[in-house]
Amino acid sequence: KKKPRIVILGAGYAGIMTASRLTKAGMHHEADITLVNKHNYHYQTTWLHEPAAGTLHHDKTRMKIENVIDTNKVNFVKGAVKTIDREGKKVLLENGELEYDYLVVGLGSVPETFGIPGVQEHAFAIRSVNSVRLIREHIEYKFASYNNEDEKHDEYLTFVVAGAGFTGIEFVGELSERVPELCEEYDIDRDKVRIVSVEAAPTALPGFDEELVEYAMNLLESRGVEFKINTPIKEVTENGVLLDDGEEIKSHTVVWTTGVRGNPIIENSGFEAMRGRVKVEKDLRAPDHDDVFIIGDCSLIINEEINRPYPPTAQIAIQQAYTCAGNLKHLVTGKGEMEAFEPDIKGTVASLGGKEAIGLVGSKKVYGGSASAVKKMIDNRYLFMLGGMPLVLKKGKLNIF
Ligand code: FAD
Repeated sequence: KKKPRIVILGAGYAGIMTASRLTKAGMHHEADITLVNKHNYHYQTTWLHEPAAGTLHHDKTRMKIENVIDTNKVNFVKGAVKTIDREGKKVLLENGELEYDYLVVGLGSVPETFGIPGVQEHAFAIRSVNSVRLIREHIEYKFASYNNEDEKHDEYLTFVVAGAGFTGIEFVGELSERVPELCEEYDIDRDKVRIVSVEAAPTALPGFDEELVEYAMNLLESRGVEFKINTPIKEVTENGVLLDDGEEIKSHTVVWTTGVRGNPIIENSGFEAMRGRVKVEKDLRAPDHDDVFIIGDCSLIINEEINRPYPPTAQIAIQQAYTCAGNLKHLVTGKGEMEAFEPDIKGTVASLGGKEAIGLVGSKKVYGGSASAVKKMIDNRYLFMLGGMPLVLKKGKLNIF
């Protein structure tokens, strides 16, 4: 009897954890499992603000897929997915095609631009190892250029971060720690450098506890960060940003962190979506598709307590992978049961650079050094789930306190 083919798209949190769970359950004996990813490595999206600012080397955030997934059990295909042919039950890649009996889509997200002109052309995004390496290099280049020109260009040293949500604040935190080092290295006065956090909503970190937001803003302001809250950006140009209130901030570095939408492959493949995300059934399958699971940032699930979507997070992506792997096991072997996905939100911690962070653990507020320690433990816990202690020792954050 021919074994059913399970194809997993994307080796981010959602995809790689699904592959890992399937092999741990011995599913490679029951099905042919294929994992497809653009790169031959898995990276930690939640750490990318650090290599973007240059406070951590990008190699710390990534690992070869063959080192965390047993390639005798899972067939790894390095390739970029172009589209999903739902009727033909196959996936078109840049370099071939793959047929499936069951598909898991974990292709992550892309920046949400809200159609604001110039974002695609002129802003940077914290999205992948490639994109953050470019940001780090660009920032250093601007510092290095400054003293090489007789006429001084302040816009070289003005850094605009669009969006003061989770990612924007984490990046600003890292950058505010990095800037003094860069000033020293390139003989530049700290006063010459501006870091401007621009947010359209009436508060930074919308949705976060007010006291924690205040702590974060005070800390970042003490490191020289300027906040422009309640200030929508009208346009990004090659010279900087134009704000709704008419002001122009001249800057050669605009980093766009105003939230995400699901990978465009979802919409291009004809799935019905909201901001590129498919509102999945309780068992994580796409509506009207009994052979397609959609998890991670490509999926949308509703928090029934407030009747609004959960924000997409790694925490949810990982938990969905567990449910998805269990449900695949049921479909292939008939064992166990189809389970409904229930997120179990353990808390949220945002790093602020250095040994500073804020967050909620359960319903407890945490600040400063203890929050930062919790953040590192969360990061290490994931590595432990994926590759046990050896991976924690190799890639973990071991300077916890
Ligand atoms: P990803 O982890 O992004 O993985 C998608 C994968 O698909 C990638 O490996 C990519 O290379 C691959 N891929 C994409 N397109 C293709 C293609 N066409 N073909 C083949 N492969 C492709 N969440 C938290 O829970 N806690 C946090 O503290 C937190 N901090 C964050 C900080 C930052 C700076 C950012 C940017 C995000 C943060 N998040 C956090 C959100 C979290 O990173 C995402 O929700 C999570 O990565 C989603 O997982 P995923 O598996 O859906 O996508």
